[in-house]
Amino acid sequence: GTSLVWLRDDLRLDDNPALSEAAGRGLPFTVVYILDEQSQGVRPLGGAARWWLHHSLAALSADLESRGSRLVLRRGPAGEAIRTLATQTKADHLFWNRRYGQPERTIDADLKEWAGGHGMQASSYQANLLFEPWTVKTGAGGPYKVYSPFWRACLASQDIRNPFEAPDTLPEPAPSGRGLPASDTLSSWNLLPSSPDWSGGLAATWRPGETGAQQRLEDFLDGPIEDYGTGRNLPGTEGTSRLSPHLRFGEVSPFRVWREIRRRHPHNVPSDVGTYRAELGWREFNWHLLYHNPDLATRNFRPAFDNFQWAPTSREELAAWQQGNTGYPLVDAGMRQLWQTGWMHNRVRMAAASFLVKNLLTDWRIGEEWFWDTLVDADAANNPANWQWVAGSGADASPYYRIFNPVTQSKKFDAGGSYLRTFIPELRDVEGKGIHEPWTVEAEGYPKPLVDLAESRERALDAYQKIKSA
Ligand code: FAD
Repeated sequence: GTSLVWLRDDLRLDDNPALSEAAGRGLPFTVVYILDEQSQGVRPLGGAARWWLHHSLAALSADLESRGSRLVLRRGPAGEAIRTLATQTKADHLFWNRRYGQPERTIDADLKEWAGGHGMQASSYQANLLFEPWTVKTGAGGPYKVYSPFWRACLASQDIRNPFEAPDTLPEPAPSGRGLPASDTLSSWNLLPSSPDWSGGLAATWRPGETGAQQRLEDFLDGPIEDYGTGRNLPGTEGTSRLSPHLRFGEVSPFRVWREIRRRHPHNVPSDVGTYRAELGWREFNWHLLYHNPDLATRNFRPAFDNFQWAPTSREELAAWQQGNTGYPLVDAGMRQLWQTGWMHNRVRMAAASFLVKNLLTDWRIGEEWFWDTLVDADAANNPANWQWVAGSGADASPYYRIFNPVTQSKKFDAGGSYLRTFIPELRDVEGKGIHEPWTVEAEGYPKPLVDLAESRERALDAYQKIKSA
């Protein structure tokens, strides 16, 4: 019989257990991707992620074709689309890699049940997280709510499974004679922006797809990782891996990253490399949180925050933040980097988010949604978890009195101003330290500060104090 491989957030051939298990049967199989904008609770992709998805699917499609296979594209509620395709191809076995969001798990569980009722087998695999959420438990048997002990427990378990490696060749995609199953064309999905097409900066920055992902990984492991402890804090350098969108879409597996690190450091892990692995640990932790708290993107992890008095957000203030016109160069450079390239450096994400939530006292969910729409790495767990971390409403969150000062941060981490100059043309000719405080120098066309830092800081501390004493 034939089988069906349903790819989702695992758009790769390498280290893909669902794919290698299906291929390993030595029988024909169909590889499918479903664009699901209809199933209950599935969060629709933002604009930047749609752009990425288009190019990632194009790359995957080409990779499959070069191996004599093909990618079938269908849209609709995923469960229904898979049932139709499985019936059309007379599949006797469904393969996929596991997902961890609640709506997605419901779809998968229903499908498994349907398959069982129709004489079909359904097999799912661990492929996208190093540690599946239900396997990491506190001494008392519950989920972790604090990162450090979570990650210590992960590392102590030394249980990095996933022995799979995709074979070099894949067999025929579908039974000959019966023809290939019908596929949508990628262009018919309209994932790319038009009128206006804002994707030029994204295209200049990224190469979506597996080849691009592997190149990034290699470049990073060959250099920047050795100095990651320092380099990761400097937004003006290429000190981080920039693997986040590739990991988001599963173009590279975390197991691959892990194994490549281990191959280069078989005996002991240097501290910079350990620091890097600990960041992968935050990704694991956030998915652990989402698994146990499905509404992480909409509900405060700490219920005390349900009574928090956010300020009414003025359209003008919000637009100034979104467009990078707050008058604070680090925040503005970050927001413009985001708009142009679909990505923002982590240190700057923290500063920009803190500015919105604390200095403008805006509900974190408003910022989360903007990031969701504009980030190429917009991730259902990492985005809300990090926003809640900044807001103080999250698990293991930043303490309420920690309010990033964008001027201090910029002096410290972009001392020479190279990052600021890259993204803020109005400041390109400003020399010396004045670039961090443009209101002290001539900076033609650059906005005056939107709010006073000291005053807005006091306002935020007052609001947070109420929560604390409540
Ligand atoms: P590296 O420094 O090379 O880190 C390696 C990998 O570890 C990353 O690719 C990522 O998968 C993971 N990682 C690193 N930092 C974090 C973190 N703080 N939390 C979770 N995982 C992390 N990351 C996303 O992947 N998607 C998001 O939607 C997202 N939204 C964020 C929103 C805010 C407000 C903040 C403060 C952070 C957010 N992050 C998000 C986390 C982090 O900023 C990015 O993962 C990181 O900047 C990606 O760049 P990199 O791949 O070069 O990271």
